[in-house]
Amino acid sequence: MWLCIYLSCSDTIPYFPKKSDIIGNVILSVSEESQWDPSQKPRDDKNTMSSFFSFSFGCRVNEAEKVTLDKKLLEMGFLWSEKNPDFYIINSCAVTGKAEREVRQHIYQIRKKFPKTKIVVTGCAATNWVKNSLMVQGVDLLIQNSDKQSIPRRLMCHPEPRIKVRGKLREGSSPDVRQDAPQDSSPDLIGIRMTSKPYSPDITNYYDKFLHSGRLMVKIQDGCDRFCSYCIVPYLRGKPKSKRIAKIIAEIQSYAQSCHSRSNPLRLSETSRESREKNLDSRLRGNDRKKLNNDINILNEVILTAINTGCFGKDTGETLIELIDAILKQTSVPKISFGSIHPWSITDEFLEYYRSILPTNRFIPFFHIPIQSGSNTILKLMNRGYTIEEIYRKLKEIKKINPDTFIGTDIIVGFPGETEKEFQETYEFLQKAPIDKIHVFRYSPRPGTTAEKFKKIYDESTPEEKRRRAKMIIEIKSKANNI
Ligand code: SF4
Repeated sequence: MWLCIYLSCSDTIPYFPKKSDIIGNVILSVSEESQWDPSQKPRDDKNTMSSFFSFSFGCRVNEAEKVTLDKKLLEMGFLWSEKNPDFYIINSCAVTGKAEREVRQHIYQIRKKFPKTKIVVTGCAATNWVKNSLMVQGVDLLIQNSDKQSIPRRLMCHPEPRIKVRGKLREGSSPDVRQDAPQDSSPDLIGIRMTSKPYSPDITNYYDKFLHSGRLMVKIQDGCDRFCSYCIVPYLRGKPKSKRIAKIIAEIQSYAQSCHSRSNPLRLSETSRESREKNLDSRLRGNDRKKLNNDINILNEVILTAINTGCFGKDTGETLIELIDAILKQTSVPKISFGSIHPWSITDEFLEYYRSILPTNRFIPFFHIPIQSGSNTILKLMNRGYTIEEIYRKLKEIKKINPDTFIGTDIIVGFPGETEKEFQETYEFLQKAPIDKIHVFRYSPRPGTTAEKFKKIYDESTPEEKRRRAKMIIEIKSKANNI
């Protein structure tokens, strides 16, 4: 049995474009009618519904936020639709200029594909555009990170739901069992408002979309106060905010009870199965009941995501160790893993805890630790707050505790101040460090960050130089794998 947590941060995608890439082709415009009034009274028409689709760019925190938003909208009665949805919600990324460009391209494509769909963009790129009073053509509504919570209400306030439903929706229906059919429902409409045949094999239940592998991303923390000199995230996500452990546990339990899939065998824990069956018994009878039983499945893996794991609990007085312990003790999720766990979280106490939970077999031995450089000079310029000697000791210790632990990292090449000497230090560190996988990124400045100003002090490496260094680092692991 395994239990798995992913913790992600902008550390994981640090490729930076030139300044001209950032603002370049952002166009200042927004359609008048698109600015629907969020203070308007939400629609209270039980015979209409709207459909939505959502898409997430960037880190796992964004993905986790998307999952939460999707669940909320479905609970409110919105339909999931891949074809021509009423609302298309994009959770955007701005960690690099390239990421922003991809968001703009996506908006352009969606606008072309679904001319009448309302496009709602939130996330870091949206926040960046709002802060700079920019608007991308084709967007109907931009919502900053700090205002994300308002999305469901804003969508409810939109005056034009396009799908009519037959009959009245039952008050108090649970999200996954509603029996009123949309009059014009098409196979692409996936959702909680099902036809009179709940759980028909012809209808993909929404939860299959993100739980097809039984893996769930849960956001445990947002924001960052580390202010690594190259990173724009603290400006866009604000101060660190941690979710309370009790809330995270409740979230996991809620998903565990909601999810079911046709592809995997029935493995629901007795407690959650009993409560789910009790919950559904009053609504389903006969064949529908039998079919549902075959569809129920367990949540296999919890992937905890954070902008910076090092900030988890700073504001609540709780710790990462307490969180993992609570998940292990209070849920039956078989797996937890760490995706990105940041260097500041790997304390001696944490390593001791890692050793102690190995026998549970629920903790996936996978650590993605974004180190960013193997040169102390560059780490200092990046404001990372650790030395390469400290990191080396921690990596060795992890492997000593469990030699099967897989360790991955991110490295930025061509950071301002990185001469051949500093690059060689990184290269040599990576050759000897017990790291199994390296993601390499070529530095490019992000407007508004401290490192952007370094160009006045240091000569920047040429693009060819950055390419050469990146290639050399990639080859370290390919050579090692060929041995
Ligand atoms: S500033 Fe925070 S979010 Fe950005 S790279 Fe550093 S730790 Fe990660």
